[in-house]
Amino acid sequence: MAEIKTINLHKRFTDFVAVRESNLTVRNGEFFVLLGPSGCGKTTTLRMIAGLELPTDGQILLDGEDVTYTRARARDIAFVFQLFALYPHMNVRQNMAFPLVNEGFPKAEVKQRVEEIAAMLHIDHLLDKSVSGLAGGDRQRVALGRAIVRKPKAFLMDEPLGTLDSQFRELMCLELRRLHDRLGATTVYVTHDQSEAMTMADTIVVMNKGDVLQADSPDRIYNCPNSIFVGQFIGAPPMNFLTVGSSVTAQVTSVNVEGVKVNVPRQLAGSSKVVLGIRPEWVSLTNDGGLRGEVQAVEYLGSHQIVTVKTTAGTVRTRVNKDLQVRLLESIGVNFNPGHCILYDTASEKLLESEFTAQYTKARVHGDREWVSHG
Ligand code: ADP
Ligand code: MG
Repeated sequence: MAEIKTINLHKRFTDFVAVRESNLTVRNGEFFVLLGPSGCGKTTTLRMIAGLELPTDGQILLDGEDVTYTRARARDIAFVFQLFALYPHMNVRQNMAFPLVNEGFPKAEVKQRVEEIAAMLHIDHLLDKSVSGLAGGDRQRVALGRAIVRKPKAFLMDEPLGTLDSQFRELMCLELRRLHDRLGATTVYVTHDQSEAMTMADTIVVMNKGDVLQADSPDRIYNCPNSIFVGQFIGAPPMNFLTVGSSVTAQVTSVNVEGVKVNVPRQLAGSSKVVLGIRPEWVSLTNDGGLRGEVQAVEYLGSHQIVTVKTTAGTVRTRVNKDLQVRLLESIGVNFNPGHCILYDTASEKLLESEFTAQYTKARVHGDREWVSHG
């Protein structure tokens, strides 16, 4: 059991900043995912937490204790590199026992722990079998078992499913999450795959170029991204962004998108334009009215279709009913729900407080499950 905190954690390689003043709190028992494009500083963050890399500045707290300069071994944190590299010449029991034997645990304890974990993973009947003859799912359970026999305070996993094909990945995600729920061990998990992050995380941290951009629940990361980058990085297709004009009165700023008025409850500092962020499923298509445009692509996906519309304000990708008849190049309207629009500042690309964010936060606080319905 462990709570991990980073305080202004900073890492510079010569003149290159890999991680910039990172402040993260990983709560005890949480499944915490670091997500971001390649090179954004995920591995470096993880290696500093593990004690494999020294920070240039800042602190790491483990259960409130400063471990910034504590040796890796003394931190009692397991770093899981490659979940699937089993030793082919050893049987299941030997593979699982390896980390304990390696650290000189007494024989009886090794036996007891291996059998306990094997029972938990439902592979106790395979303990004396060779790993090379095992089915895929069982191999993965052995690998998981080997990672957890040490019963560390926390697990750090760096893209452990990296090389698997997508079907296996999905299975493994579920298995890992289930195991986590049983063990309740604090886990920091690194991935560049947004769907992996969404399915597994309690908290997702989106990073870019060394910066922590947003640390939030998957729900908030998806439905209320705090910057254009996060909205674009999460979601398939990503969030749409349209630059629209705004008009400022004494109390409120409103933006007007082809007749749809969206209020921002504060003045926009000096900018007459804002960026409107809309998820593909937050809009509908209409023959009359709406933001007019031309259909540029229709992607039929069985359960729904993605229709790309080029409007004067920019290109909008919409997720619509599979039975809607849409023809390429036809003129069509995109209908917005004024209560469901997110606004970003054009210069900083950061979220602006609006009626939407206020209501969203209120709905979340009250646990209103119905509020975010996309019709
Ligand atoms: P990620 O895991 O998100 O892909 P990393 O944390 O591995 O990113 O790397 C972040 C940045 O730091 C990258 O640009 C990488 O090239 C750089 N970097 C990582 N390790 C070193 C190192 N030992 N020396 C110099 N630059 C490094
Ligand atoms: Mg990496």
